[in-house]
Amino acid sequence: MQYDSWSRRSLAPTVRRHVKYRMRKVRQTKLPAGRFSTWLREIRKALAENHGMNVPCGECDACCRSSKFIHIMLDETRTIRRIPKELLFPAPLLPNGHMVLGYNKQGRCPMSDDNKCSIYKFRPYTCRGFDCRVLAATGLAVNGTDPIALQAQRWEFSFPTKSDRSRFSAVQEATSFLTKYPNCIQDNLSPKGDIRLSVLAIKVYDVFLNCDESGIVQDSDIIKNVLESYNKFEKCERAA
Ligand code: SF4
Ligand code: SF4
Repeated sequence: MQYDSWSRRSLAPTVRRHVKYRMRKVRQTKLPAGRFSTWLREIRKALAENHGMNVPCGECDACCRSSKFIHIMLDETRTIRRIPKELLFPAPLLPNGHMVLGYNKQGRCPMSDDNKCSIYKFRPYTCRGFDCRVLAATGLAVNGTDPIALQAQRWEFSFPTKSDRSRFSAVQEATSFLTKYPNCIQDNLSPKGDIRLSVLAIKVYDVFLNCDESGIVQDSDIIKNVLESYNKFEKCERAA
């Protein structure tokens, strides 16, 4: 009895402090994200060909507890069959048949069971294809506090050559530009949150490579080039 009351009053706060300390330590530990140019080439290929990236997620399950709606595409019939109907809703602004999967009061995906995906083999393309390093590449996770942003803050790219640095700067410039003109690309997938903006920046970053030397000064010219680059990327995506 004495031990019980001691443990409740004295041990519980100690344990809580220890858990908090451990969690802070995990969040602060940096993770190698790979060489920037190599990662950029791979993510652009994955986006164009609609296949997932091989992300070294380890034990992280931030994607499954980030209060995000998961988009499930029209042709993902094997996935849709495995999700209870009451958990699926028509996706706003998208053609009939596109669905979204919601989340529970704790922000967790209802298909997550004991911190594991219960339909892992048939998980939606959105989950399969997501790579939180897009947020590390664009810097949009810097001030975020949700689980995905905290995980993204841990990634560290390497920049062994000048080309790695200039590609990184181009992605950052594309991000600033798209943040300034969020509607310059009309892709029917608004609203544009940090993840959508990051993906768009990665698709059109080439416009901002050597932008200073190209002599383009007007934002309207940049918007035109951004649109051209986006349409070119989407054409490759459809052809892949
Ligand atoms: S947040 Fe990143 S590391 Fe974590 S599960 Fe999602 S993609 Fe993987
Ligand atoms: S479907 Fe699976 S992988 Fe996707 S968010 Fe839900 S639990 Fe996570």
